[in-house]
Amino acid sequence: MKRHKLSRVFIGAIFIINFITNTLVAIAVVLSYALGAFNEATPLVLTTVYIISVTLIGFALAAIVGKRLFSQFTELSEAMKRVAGGDYDVRVEEKRDIDEVRDMSVSFNEMARELGMTELMRKDFVSNVSHEFKTPLSVIEGYAALIERESADERCRGYAGRISASAKRLSKLAGNILLLSRLENQTVSIEKAPFRLDKRLREAILLHERGWTEKKLGLDLELPETEITGSADLLDEVWSNLIGNAVKFSREGGTLGVRITESGDKVAVAVSDTGCGIPDEARARIFEKFYQADASRASEGNGLGLPLARRIVELHGGTVEVSSEAGRGSTFTVYLKR
Ligand code: ADP
Repeated sequence: MKRHKLSRVFIGAIFIINFITNTLVAIAVVLSYALGAFNEATPLVLTTVYIISVTLIGFALAAIVGKRLFSQFTELSEAMKRVAGGDYDVRVEEKRDIDEVRDMSVSFNEMARELGMTELMRKDFVSNVSHEFKTPLSVIEGYAALIERESADERCRGYAGRISASAKRLSKLAGNILLLSRLENQTVSIEKAPFRLDKRLREAILLHERGWTEKKLGLDLELPETEITGSADLLDEVWSNLIGNAVKFSREGGTLGVRITESGDKVAVAVSDTGCGIPDEARARIFEKFYQADASRASEGNGLGLPLARRIVELHGGTVEVSSEAGRGSTFTVYLKR
């Protein structure tokens, strides 16, 4: 492929414009002399011809060169957007006829490759560490629970209870990190089967019974018999997280709502609460890993529930939407295909 430097392309274009227009003017002068038509209006006509031809040829060349150049820049800019969105597998064509664009493409590919390697190492590290955490944590949890049950010393039982609760929290965190990294790396599709959505939602609500009875929440349920196809176990994580959050961020005496609505081939599950709500600036970030709107992290949690829920819903080809008003409550709606 013939290659050019950008500066030479521009110099070449200016040269072509000059050459063509000067030649046109020279031909016009010779013709007007030859035909005996040269008079005092001729310089004005020639200047007009000169200006019009410079403009037209300039536009034509700018359109040809610009189109070629911009299509290459657009391709690069699209690829950069994908890298910014976390897709490090994107590559651009390196064989370019303009040197500067070729250098940029080679550097871009190099950068995407390096970022991909770093991301892979990070993911491997995180999932290996989480995996290694799980066994010792369950041993700690098991023995702490045993001491809590069997010890005659009340203080000792208290300490063991706290150790057990903290170990449970850490083990939940390690489990969530592992599951999220597995789902993020999921390239094959998940195993799906038909199941009763309303039943699974009822079970998820019961799982949090202690939370909503302690807070004396009223239940507003609308769970008509609904069958969908998906991974019921993975979706249980979604329901448990959304219902758990609705309970956790509710005030005493509030209302927990869980509703199924169907329209066409879509099913929507809305989980609502009348709790503290989510401030506008936090709403855009709640699906980020480890993000918690309450910077003091006073509430129990690790900020992985919503990213995990969204990933699971995405793997089902669905979406999650949130509407919330600070101080008045929130509604998370999951849209799934049947
Ligand atoms: P966490 O383990 O902290 O609950 P999540 O990823 O589930 O992590 O949620 C992230 C953050 O989003 C929470 O810490 C909280 O600030 C906010 N959030 C989620 N659900 C609700 C809700 N129903 N009401 C108010 N804030 C919520």
